[in-house]
Amino acid sequence: MTDNFIMPFAGGTIDYAEADRTPEQLQKFVAQPNARTILFFKGDVGIGEGGRLHRAHPSELIGQNLFEPGPVFLGLEGDRPVFAASLQDPKDFLPVDNFINLRMGGGMMDPVDLAIAGRARSLFEWHRTHRYCANCGGGSVPDEGGAKRVCNHCDTEHFPRVNPVVIMLVTSGDKVLLGRSPGWPEGWMSCLAGFVSPGESIEEATYRETLEEVGIKTKNHKYIFSQPWPYPSQLMIGMSCEAVNETIDVEPGELEEAKWYSREEVAAVFDKTGGAFMRPPRITIAHQLLKTWLKS
Ligand SMILES: [Zn+2]
Repeated sequence: MTDNFIMPFAGGTIDYAEADRTPEQLQKFVAQPNARTILFFKGDVGIGEGGRLHRAHPSELIGQNLFEPGPVFLGLEGDRPVFAASLQDPKDFLPVDNFINLRMGGGMMDPVDLAIAGRARSLFEWHRTHRYCANCGGGSVPDEGGAKRVCNHCDTEHFPRVNPVVIMLVTSGDKVLLGRSPGWPEGWMSCLAGFVSPGESIEEATYRETLEEVGIKTKNHKYIFSQPWPYPSQLMIGMSCEAVNETIDVEPGELEEAKWYSREEVAAVFDKTGGAFMRPPRITIAHQLLKTWLKS
């Protein structure tokens, strides 16, 4: 990985302005002439001129029906307040076709736009699925511009959560192990991955998930790099490890198939001279892990 590499969905340049989120300050931000709001529709982000994020002034949203929690204050871009809003009907702003799915179209977006949109998408998903207090079951309301929620009944504060997932580059000599989840199109292969469980280190999660999914024990677990993934809010933790044995025993239901691929086969897939499998999209950390392995 080169020093100027930015992992897709990382590299956002917005200052979260955590100390500047009082209702009075947020009102001032909304009224600033240079304030902007990025727009979502059904989880997809609105793209405007030049392929960049469409940015509306917050006043343009007056009278629009927005999904919960209403506008979210993402933070400051220099002295520019940046908000995000999820529209119920985008017709006053953009054609529906201009709203793109970040997984499908994010690879063509400006990297900073992608990071901003990814963070906003995760926040909207968190608000959508956390409307009730996990402590008492009462209704909660957004606070501090959407940076948290507060329960109306017991005052418990709830903060956006991130779910850690390990994704592993399992190697044996000059071979790498890839698998296909149930429901993926034929030929799609990627690195194995799984959620970190309570009480587990990322190294232990890497060992357990690999053993569970393919029956292979591993050693020398090492962290490589990570990626925020906004579907809905994972932190993908890229790991490498070495297989102790090579015999694959796929756990039914977890994976459709798993196979070892040689460095030559993977290199051919990446330079498009071979078709042993379909490479994971560039926007994924699996793509970046394999690319890094090819250079090692
Ligand atoms: Zn409560």
